Amino acid sequence: MRYSGRFAPSPTGPLHFGSLITAVASYCDAKAHQGQWLLRIEDTDIPRIYPGSEQHILAAIEAFQFEPDGEILFQKDRLDIYHSVIEQLRQQHLVYACQCTRKMLGSNAIYPGTCRDLGLDFQHQAIRIKVADQDICFEDRLQGLHCSNLQHELGDFVLRRRDGIISYQLAVVVDDYLQGITHVVRGADLLDNTARQIWLGQLLGYPTLNYMHLPLAMNDQGQKLSKQNLAQALDLSQASLLLQQALQVLGQAPVDLDTPARMLVQAVTQWDIQKIPKGTLLPGHYL
Ligand code: GLU
Repeated sequence: MRYSGRFAPSPTGPLHFGSLITAVASYCDAKAHQGQWLLRIEDTDIPRIYPGSEQHILAAIEAFQFEPDGEILFQKDRLDIYHSVIEQLRQQHLVYACQCTRKMLGSNAIYPGTCRDLGLDFQHQAIRIKVADQDICFEDRLQGLHCSNLQHELGDFVLRRRDGIISYQLAVVVDDYLQGITHVVRGADLLDNTARQIWLGQLLGYPTLNYMHLPLAMNDQGQKLSKQNLAQALDLSQASLLLQQALQVLGQAPVDLDTPARMLVQAVTQWDIQKIPKGTLLPGHYL
C-alpha cells in the first residue's frame, strides 16, 4: 500500500516552531517513503478559531515551499459527513446522548457512564461513544508500545458537543480514513488521543494506521510550545533558516542553506527517524 501522510493543523493560532517540526517531519517521512503528503485544516471548533490563523497556515505552507499532493481539505466544509457517521453509529447503538455538564461531572476525568442507558433524545445534547473494558495497544514508531484501557482511564467520550461542534476525535478519524491516510506523524501531546481514535476507527471498520509521535519543543518555562502559551508565530521571511533549525532539532544531518524547496529535497534524501531524539520532549528551549 502506498504511504499517505498528512499535516493537519488547527487554526487556533498562527503556526509556531513546534508546528513546523511536525510539518517537516510528516513531509520528509512521507516523501522518504515515496508517499504523498496531504494538508488538512482542522477547523471544526469554530469558537476556538483565531482570526487570521488560517491565512497564516496557508502562507506558511507556501513560504516553506511544501507542496501538498491533492487539494487542501477544510473540515468545516465536511460537517454533513461527520453527522452521517454519527447517525451510522446511532443506528448501531454505539453512541448515546448525554446531558451531563462539565459542572455536574466535576473534576472526575473518567466519565462514569451516567447517561448511557437513559435513552435521551439526540437533539441539543452531547453525543458520546461507548468504550469497552479492553486494552487498546499500538506500536508507535518512536515511542514504542502504548496501551490504554479507555474505560478505566477515560470513559465514554464525546463525538459531538452539546453546542453541535464536532469533536476533533471524530473528525480526525473520519478524514484520515476518507483521505486514505496510512501514516500519522504528529506531536507527542496527541499520544493519549490515539487509543480513542483507534477504538473509534475499529467500530467504524476502518484500518488501523501507523503512528509516530514526535518529541515536543518546550519553551524556557518548561511548557510545550503552543498557541495557549503564546508561542511566537513563525516568521515567514526566515523560512530557510527556520527549516534548517527544525531539521537540526529533529537530529537530522545538516542541510545547506538554500531555497526551502531545495532544502526539503536534501532533507528527504537524508531523512532518518533513528536520529530523532528519543522520548516525548526535545532538549533545549524554543520561542
Ligand atoms: N489538529 C490537531 C492540532 O493542530 C492535530 C491533529 C492530528 O495531527 O491528528 O493539534
